[in-house]
Order: sequence, then structure tokens, then C-alpha cells
Amino acid sequence: MDAFYLVKIGEILLKLGNRKEFEDRLRSQLNRRLAFMPHKVEAYPGRYFVSVPEEAAADAEFVLARCPGVNGYARARKVEKSVEAVLAAAVEVARGRLASGRRSFKAESRRSDKSFPLGSFELSAEIGARVLAAFPEARVDIHKPEFTINAEIRERAYVFADPEPGLRGLPVGSGGKGLLLLSGGIDSPVAGYQMARRGLDLEALYFHAYPYTSQEAKDKVVSLARILSGYLGGMRLWTVPFTEAQLRIKKLAREDLSTVLMRAAMMRVAQRMAERVGANCIVTGESLGQVASQTAENLRFTGSFTDFPVLRPLVGCDKEETIAVARRIGSYETSILPYEDCCVLFSPKHPILRADLARETEAYRALELEPVLEEAIKQAERLDLPYPLAEKYRKRGE
Ligand code: ATP
Ligand code: MG
Repeated sequence: MDAFYLVKIGEILLKLGNRKEFEDRLRSQLNRRLAFMPHKVEAYPGRYFVSVPEEAAADAEFVLARCPGVNGYARARKVEKSVEAVLAAAVEVARGRLASGRRSFKAESRRSDKSFPLGSFELSAEIGARVLAAFPEARVDIHKPEFTINAEIRERAYVFADPEPGLRGLPVGSGGKGLLLLSGGIDSPVAGYQMARRGLDLEALYFHAYPYTSQEAKDKVVSLARILSGYLGGMRLWTVPFTEAQLRIKKLAREDLSTVLMRAAMMRVAQRMAERVGANCIVTGESLGQVASQTAENLRFTGSFTDFPVLRPLVGCDKEETIAVARRIGSYETSILPYEDCCVLFSPKHPILRADLARETEAYRALELEPVLEEAIKQAERLDLPYPLAEKYRKRGE
């Protein structure tokens, strides 16, 4: 195992009584995502270590960059706890950085093993001196260095350059499980990602109104689910046929109410599906005021159709912020593909802005949708999106 990584963990260190549970969860999340290659995960207080064969280094980095609960990671050198070994490793780390064109550096040391002969300040000074002696082009800049050489003296000694950022947050599953309403838009994948980062495990639910919405629209949702599975460590997507319900609403409801009534029906189905998969909350990409159905009145109305908490992580985000996250997580390009997940046929020209809870609840009741929804749930289709590396290694094995 030649590629060795030091992994920084963050927020889970703040957990007191149940810290062990969080640590175990992070470890099992890492093991699960690395399962496709030979690997080793070691957990020490405040630091994890991951080793994989050199040829799997890029895949290990894929895992570490996308695993909630990981604050940062760095390819590291693990050496014996002697001053000489640390200094020699520091020279090698500096060599790598200088080769990529960087010049100015600083050294940072942490010593949790107090039996080590040098204090952290002295060790940093020694590292600086040794690197300067080895490379005439290097120079020290403690305020704005182009790279940092880190030394940590713990159960062993570790030397590494600047860590890559991780997602931070909490390991998937530590916050329980939710059902994500995933449409083909920009918002809902971002909402799912935000909650995954808070430690929520997710299954996703998509309402498909075939043939009014196309097969391409569904494929797009599958692609988005695949992207999310890279953050969740795999994800299950449910598709529920919604055409009958839509047609019934179109036929029987007042036109301006059709959107909120459709949302209400979605919530009903979502609750039933959440119960079925053992989820305890529903996640949507709704954002206050973004469209007519997302005013406080309308959210109250649609939310009244489930007694599960409805988590809306984007409720206070503006579109630009959401788009920035979508770009970062790699969902944006898929989300903006042209296939609509909502057919104009079912979109009223002037949807109601402020649903009246009592009156609109009565309108919903008059539709007698329950048997239609019941039937739709029976026809729910399941699709398991494996962790992206699973497919890569399966193809390789063929
Ligand atoms: P998005 O970008 O997520 O599509 P949006 O701004 O288009 O959001 P709406 O279409 O009003 O907003 O949908 C609000 C939320 O309702 C979505 O974020 C999603 O959680 C859920 N939703 C909408 N349509 C569907 C669908 N066909 N299947 C599953 N969930 C849906
Ligand atoms: Mg949408």
C-alpha cells in the first residue's frame, strides 16, 4: 500500500457523549466507498489514515473529496519519530511542491507526543533551515506562503504539504434517513447534497408524468441521482407514475389551484413512500418565493399533507447561490439540459399565490385522489444507483 493519506476530521470532534458513534460511522463510510480496491482505514483520535495501492490513488482521492465528515486530506509520508527522519521527509515533500513551480513556504508542526526532543516551534525552524539548505530557489514566507510543510508528531510522525479540502459536515447516516423529492431541476439535487453533508442518508423519489414528460426527463433525473450517489456512497431512486393524478387534477380542479393540489398529492405519496423505506423526513428543493407554489401560505398548505418534517435546505438561498453549489458538485450541467420535468399542459397561467388552508384542503378532498395515489405507489419502480467507483471497477473486472 504505497499511497498513504492523512485525513482530517472536524465537526465530529465536537461531539462529546456520542463521538464514538460518529467516528465509527465515518470509518464505515470510508470503508464502504473504498471497498472496491485493497485499502486500509486507521482511526486515531482526531486523525484518520487511509492507505491504498499507488495505482488506486486517484480513486482514493475521489472518495476523500466527496465523503461528508472529512474536513481535508493530504498525501502524507509516515516516518519514524526521529528528528532526522522528519527533516528528510520534509525535504522530499518540499521537492514535490517546488517541482510544481512554487517557491515560498512555511513549516508548521504539531507535537502531541511530548517525548519528542524538539518542540513544535523548534521543529518548524529546523524544517525551514533544512529545506532552504537543500533548495537554493526556496524561500520562507510565513504570511503568504505558496505551500506549507506540515509535520505532526503523534503515534508516528507524519509529514505532508497543504491538505486538499474535504466536504466537512457529518458522516452520512448520522442524522438519520430522509426521502428526497428529486426533480430534474437545479434545486433539488443541491438540496439533497446539503442534507447529505449534514449527515442525512437519502433515498430519492421522482414523479414521472409519462408521456407528458419524456423519457429523457427521467434519464436526466437518473443522471442526477447518480451524481448524488457519489456523495452519499450509493443511492436508491424511486419513480412513481403521476400521470393519472395529474390528469384527474387537470380535469376536476380549478385551474389556478392545480399546482398546489399537485404538490399536496406529491406530499401524500412522499409520506407513504418515506414510511415504506424507513425515512423520517422529506427533503425538497423549495426556496421561499422562487415560484408561485413556494410562498409561506402555499408551503403551509402543501406541508399540511404530511406529518413528517419537510426539510427545505434552500429555503433562504437565492438562485445564484444554489447555482454556485450545483456547479461545484457537478450537477449543474445535467440540470440545465432542456427536458422539462413538468409539462406546460399541467401548469396554470395564473397559479394561486396564497392558498387558504381550509378552503383548498376541501378542494383537495373533492378530488378523491387517494385511490389514484394508492395505485401509483403500487407501481413505484426502484433503481439502485451504486457508488460511482463500483461501476468503474466492475467494468475493469470484465
Ligand atoms: P427544482 O430545480 O428542484 O426542479 P424548481 O425551482 O423547479 O426546483 P419546483 O418545480 O416548484 O421548483 O419544485 C419544487 C420542489 O418540489 C423541487 O425542488 C423538488 O424537491 C420537488 N419536485 C418538483 N417536481 C418534482 C418531481 N417531478 N418529482 C419529484 N419531486 C419534485
Ligand atoms: Mg422543478
